[in-house]
Amino acid sequence: KLSKRLSTVATFITKGATFADIGSDHAYLPCYVCLYDSKAQAIAGEVKEGPFKSALETINKYDLSTRVEIRLGDGLEIIQNGEVNLLVITGMGGSLIRSILEDGKSRLSCVQRIIVQPNVNERNVREWFYKNNYTITCEEILEESGHIYEIIVADRQADKSPYKKDLLQQQLLFGPLLLEHKTEIFIKKWNNELSKRIRVIDEMKKAKEQNQDKISDFEKELSWVQEVLK
Ligand code: SAM
Repeated sequence: KLSKRLSTVATFITKGATFADIGSDHAYLPCYVCLYDSKAQAIAGEVKEGPFKSALETINKYDLSTRVEIRLGDGLEIIQNGEVNLLVITGMGGSLIRSILEDGKSRLSCVQRIIVQPNVNERNVREWFYKNNYTITCEEILEESGHIYEIIVADRQADKSPYKKDLLQQQLLFGPLLLEHKTEIFIKKWNNELSKRIRVIDEMKKAKEQNQDKISDFEKELSWVQEVLK
C-alpha cells in the first residue's frame, strides 16, 4: 500500500502521462501509477546504486519493465529534452529540489507540469517556480505518521497567477493557495514553526556576536507567522 503522501502526489499525475520521478528510491510511485493507469509510462531516476537496485526489484516484481524504466544518474541528466511532459520530485529538501530543477532547466522545455513535495524549505521551490514561469495551480498539506507534508503542483504558464505584489514574500513562504484555506494541519504546522522561530531568535540574541540584519529578517518573518495565525 502506497503512503498517503505519495498517493496524494499520484492524484496530480495526468491520465496517460509520460513522466519522470527523480530520486525515486524504491520506484513505488511510478509503479503504482502505471498499475492503475494502463496508458502511463515512467522513467525513474536515481543517483545512488542501492536505491537504483531497489527500484529495479519493484519494477520486476510488478512486471512493469516495459513501462517503468530506471536510470542511474544525477537529477535531470537522465532525461532528454522532450522525453517527458510531467516531472515529480518528492521526499528531499527544498534546496536540493530547486538545484535539480535549476541544473536541469534546459531539459524542461516540454515539461508542462512539475509536482514536488519538499520535506523542508518549500519556499525555495516556490521561488524557482515563480522565476521560471511555472504557476502554482494546486497545493495540499497533509499529516502522516507525525510528519506534515506539503505537495505543490505547478503548471507551465497557466494564465492565472496566484500572487499579489505586496504579499509576494508571505505567499512564497506559506504557499499562495494554502494561505487561502488555512486548514487545521496548516495551523498546526505554523504553530510549530512559531515556537521554533521564537527559540531561534532567542538564541541569536544571546549570541556574543549578533547579526542584527539576520535577527531583523527572522523577526519580520515571525510577525508574518503571528499574523497568519490570528
Ligand atoms: N521520492 C521518494 C519518496 O518521496 O518517497 C524517495 C525519497 S528519498 C528520501 C530521496 C531519494 O533521492 C534517495 O533515494 C536519493 O538517493 C535520491 N536523490 C538524492 N539526490 C538526487 C539527485 N541529485 N538525483 C537523483 N536522485 C537523487
